[in-house]
Amino acid sequence: MTTLIIDRRGHVPLPASAPPPMVDPFGRSITYLRVSVTDRCDFRCTYCMAEQMTFLPRKELLTLEELERLCSAFVARGVRKLRLTGGEPLMRRNVMMLVRALGAHVHAGRLEELTLTTNGSQLSRFATELADCGVRRINVSLDTLKPDLFRTITRRGDLGPVLEGIQAAQAAGIRIKINAVALKGINDQEIPEMLRWAHGEGMDLTLIETMPLGETGEDRTEHYMPLSEMRARLAERFTLIEDTHRTGGPARYLRVAETGGRLGLITPMTHNFCESCNRVRLTCTGTLYMCLGQEDAADLRAVLRATPDDAALHAAIDAAILRKPKGHDFIIDRTQRPSVARHMSVTGG
Ligand code: SAM
Ligand code: SF4
Repeated sequence: MTTLIIDRRGHVPLPASAPPPMVDPFGRSITYLRVSVTDRCDFRCTYCMAEQMTFLPRKELLTLEELERLCSAFVARGVRKLRLTGGEPLMRRNVMMLVRALGAHVHAGRLEELTLTTNGSQLSRFATELADCGVRRINVSLDTLKPDLFRTITRRGDLGPVLEGIQAAQAAGIRIKINAVALKGINDQEIPEMLRWAHGEGMDLTLIETMPLGETGEDRTEHYMPLSEMRARLAERFTLIEDTHRTGGPARYLRVAETGGRLGLITPMTHNFCESCNRVRLTCTGTLYMCLGQEDAADLRAVLRATPDDAALHAAIDAAILRKPKGHDFIIDRTQRPSVARHMSVTGG
């Protein structure tokens, strides 16, 4: 593997004449890039993946250098926040080389935030280095604090290392937000306890509705939990105060008077958040999805590999942004077919 190009001050050089920022046909500025660095994962969460998954052949993947070049092209186009995700991003071999190269954009002030979404299983190993690379906040996905249930939901994960990873990240000075998918009949009764735990540890908690993405071998409708219902339940125990806090994402926030912490609600199914969408998603094969909930995509890998000159790449990005749709059309119905065939782990959550 070759070394990523970083100058003497640790900065990744950008082209001298920066191309213009990205604005879609609906006037939305695109300032947020999510990058799925691998479709692989050490877990098989029941709402995310099937038990038996066929992953992409490794030769299909962009190299870390190619990913860095693509990400840097987006930074040059005005992306201010970049989230690495997957699959499990920390399972990608040598991923820290990419994090370090992208961290140079943070240190140089070109990127406001470099962050990641992780299942936390590898966090203990990487916490200190992540902090050193300029990562200040991380989302850790955790749906239960019960070890047995954790194993059931993830089909193969252990809770212990995840909790240790969270502690290691906090000790390294990284702020953690816990993301939990609310699952009726599985973890819904435990959410008040998780809220108290997360807030007690100084972490915000965000709840997510299951989205119909990819076959999982299970019927999602059975465990689909509208967050409107969860909010009503929580309101019986806690004083929930509307909070104007925004992170540039789809979550809406409430302040919990009893704990002083924040509760986020991501409700793609019951409340469409598309009007303020500022993001695009890049897969580990260089496919750019302009919307999580639509099939249309642009192949940036071919352009990337055709020439080392970024002009063609920027033209392809422009053409893709012009196709960004107004919104998604998610529906959970009883046909058992997912609205979108690809898994969340491909596009990146
Ligand atoms: N493996 C990492 C993790 O679990 O945090 C990153 C990738 S994962 C696809 C990102 C987020 O998507 C996780 O918070 C996960 O709970 C969520 N997710 C996966 N499939 C989902 C689905 N069908 N509906 C809603 N959220 C989903
Ligand atoms: Fe892996 Fe994350 Fe999907 Fe769970 S939600 S299977 S941890 S990618």
